[in-house]
Amino acid sequence: MSDGNGRLVILGGGFAGTSALNVVGRAILVDKNEYMTFTNKLVDVVEGKDPNVAVVKHRSVLVGEVKSIDLRSKVVKLKDRELKYDKLIIALGYEQDLAKIPGASKYAQRFLTLEDALSLRVKLPKVRKVIIVGGGALGVELAGVLTANQVTLLESRERILSFLSPTTSRFAEDTLLKRGVNVLKGVQVHEVKENSVETTEGEFQADLVVFSAGFVGPKILEESGLSTKGGRMLVDRYLRSIDDPDVFGAGDCANVKDGFIPMSAQVASQAGEVASLNALGQERPFTPVQRAIVLRIGNTYFGESGGRLITGPLARLIKDGATVLSMAKALRT
Ligand SMILES: Cc1cc2nc3c(=O)[nH]c(=O)nc-3n(C[C@H](O)[C@H](O)[C@H](O)COP(=O)(O)OP(=O)(O)OC[C@H]3O[C@@H](n4cnc5c(N)ncnc54)[C@H](O)[C@@H]3O)c2cc1C
Repeated sequence: MSDGNGRLVILGGGFAGTSALNVVGRAILVDKNEYMTFTNKLVDVVEGKDPNVAVVKHRSVLVGEVKSIDLRSKVVKLKDRELKYDKLIIALGYEQDLAKIPGASKYAQRFLTLEDALSLRVKLPKVRKVIIVGGGALGVELAGVLTANQVTLLESRERILSFLSPTTSRFAEDTLLKRGVNVLKGVQVHEVKENSVETTEGEFQADLVVFSAGFVGPKILEESGLSTKGGRMLVDRYLRSIDDPDVFGAGDCANVKDGFIPMSAQVASQAGEVASLNALGQERPFTPVQRAIVLRIGNTYFGESGGRLITGPLARLIKDGATVLSMAKALRT
């Protein structure tokens, strides 16, 4: 189904997969859901907004869960059928691996999908003390909306939002502190128990523990024989798998050997476009461009553009604008 190149199959209808489909027009898009999730809106769902703010239904998708990829016979195995491909774009996003921390899989709440957001929304009114593990963008935004709970944010590094500048990290921390969030840095979690968390700084009581950390590439990549780093499949500068020239990787599930492709919706969309052009026979090197990054703590919008802190209406405009743009793109697929 890809002109002159045989059948193109795209696995994963998230930011990377839908932007790949937008470029090629005709391909088979496979996703386990019939909708695309706007992860940046999941915090709004936790806060009580209509779940529809975070999803857009695909116009054309083959709904099925990818179980494995047979690279030798060029077949994708879904739960209940097999799919032949000539060229394949893998855009399966990431998973949350809680297995490394004892007790986390059993007692901690994940935060990755719409179901997780809805589950959190049901649990939160019934609990008082909440511990959020991971002071990245996700943990910070989540901590910012849990106003009815007593929230502690645990971060293993010396500052939250360590991928942003120290000025922005400080701004975020001050904003959280003003909202009553207890921010603890340089704290490693050893174990999660039913009502507490064991850390390098001692034990903290919690009625609910939420993990916003441990993001890795999907297990099936390694299981299918693809070379990986941090669970993300290894691709060259054209986003072509280093193991198979007919397979491309885009978005959070793919990384380069000597370097790092940022894990963000913006970069995933760019990667989807480049991967699809290269799957069609072009040779475009991929250069990720992380433009402005904007976060929200309650009603405070802030972020960075060109390494400088931005706040207020400009920050809000950028965040809302980016969401509208990506939703408009998704509606085309
Ligand atoms: C709660 C949350 C908030 C976030 N907020 C922001 C933000 O504000 N800004 C930002 O830039 N980034 C944000 N991110 C990160 C951003 O969501 C990711 O970087 C982005 O989604 C990556 O795009 P992707 O296409 O690689 O993966 P995804 O968008 O995750 O798409 C992967 C797709 O693959 C499908 N899939 C996975 N496994 C299978 C399978 N086995 N079979 C079939 N289908 C499968 C999934 O259903 C999904 O549709 C957030 C992440 C989370 C979890």
